[in-house]
Amino acid sequence: MEILNKLVAEIDDFYCNADKIKVMPSVKPEEIRDHLLEKYTFNEPIELESIMDDVSDMMRKWSLHTTHPRYFGLFNPAVGMSSIIADSLTALYNPQLAAWSHSPAAVEIEQWTLNFLLTKFGFDPKSSAANFTTGGAETNLSAVLVALTNTFPEYGDKGIFNLESQPTIYISSEAHHSFNKIAHSVGLGRNAIRRIKVDHSLKMDTEDLKAQIKNDREKGYTPFMVVATAGTTASGVIDPLVQIGEICSRENLWLHVDAAWGGAAILSERLKIHLKGIELADSITCDAHKWFSVSMGAGMFFCKHRHSVERAFSVETNYMPSETNNAIDNYVNSIQWSRRFIGLKVFMALAELGVEGFAKIIEHQSKMGDVLRERLASKGWKIVNDTPLPVVCFTKDQGLDKVDIAKIIEYLYEKGSVWISQTSLNNNIVLRACITNFKTQEDDIDFLIKELEDAENSK
Ligand SMILES: *Cc1c(COP(=O)(O)O)cnc(C)c1O
Repeated sequence: MEILNKLVAEIDDFYCNADKIKVMPSVKPEEIRDHLLEKYTFNEPIELESIMDDVSDMMRKWSLHTTHPRYFGLFNPAVGMSSIIADSLTALYNPQLAAWSHSPAAVEIEQWTLNFLLTKFGFDPKSSAANFTTGGAETNLSAVLVALTNTFPEYGDKGIFNLESQPTIYISSEAHHSFNKIAHSVGLGRNAIRRIKVDHSLKMDTEDLKAQIKNDREKGYTPFMVVATAGTTASGVIDPLVQIGEICSRENLWLHVDAAWGGAAILSERLKIHLKGIELADSITCDAHKWFSVSMGAGMFFCKHRHSVERAFSVETNYMPSETNNAIDNYVNSIQWSRRFIGLKVFMALAELGVEGFAKIIEHQSKMGDVLRERLASKGWKIVNDTPLPVVCFTKDQGLDKVDIAKIIEYLYEKGSVWISQTSLNNNIVLRACITNFKTQEDDIDFLIKELEDAENSK
């Protein structure tokens, strides 16, 4: 089919030449809506080839290009070719992964991949459970549901109303905000979230954690879960996992480690030391669509206690195919029902690179983070976050050198040739640059430094 040749040409061209276009679009919502209105009333059929050309054109013109080597942004990676192929094959075969009997190959490929990663995290695949999710938010929700059901066995049938006291969750003030929505949706209420103070290096303050647990118990609340973050979203900081693990074990609390981005470091012999203590977790969130360089969405939920997962998600129906012996039916082990073949791109990426090849691309990005820190420091920028992972928060806040962060961001976004963000740490607005692309090299970093200089000097 001719259209497939065109598709392949588009993939080839964008994959190889993404670095030659602007990172950031400049467009208003009305411009896009006018274009859609003009072309797509859906009253007349349009030839697929022309739709494809137009969509490609819109995507190129009107996207913030997260796969660009000069996108130093949020945790959105450049993707390997294996992801593009895996997602195409997934659409082609459209396997249904809810029940093993519908997709034996796909379900086994996913479990094979997850079991490999379970072992890396120090969990025993025989007694653990794992599944692919749409992303970290769904994974964190899975963790809260499993922990709740595990601690309060009657919660599943009778709900929160039936509990004698209000269950509480402990997260640091730097933890991901998905937990607020999760507390809301599972019926705990947003007030059940306790935000623990962070210390000077933005790590969870374990003294404050102990004090708040004690205080809550005295007041009649029931603490049940602590979430430690391994790689916070704003600044990449890793909470003290070993210490938090000890507190959880002493207090009999569920330990969840949200390693949505930072979890990938487990594949590197050099970097995994920073995740020491993650093996103490009862459950882990890790997003393959962040630092595994695979396309969205590919979240992963790992839990050390298979029976707790089964208890939280078990269900009986009269229309689903019956269970296959010695096999996993995803729909009774996770939130989703119908589901796509999320794990194929993770499987293909791991298989293509091998675990050492994978470690290399993660270590390369970590090294580029070090280079960025060095270059910034040599130009008088102050690094304000403390992490071995490649996200760098920086500012200049001394006397005459004080910079106007908003002005810098405005200059960079207007020009659109690099992308960084701003964030707030300890109530100060600072700049944030993250290495998210395995193709980013030193000259891209030099380019960013030059752009920052120009932005500072701009009027
Ligand atoms: C990104 C992120 C999440 C949410 O994951 P999604 O895949 O965006 O749903 C949760 N926790 C942390 C620490 C994150 O960085």
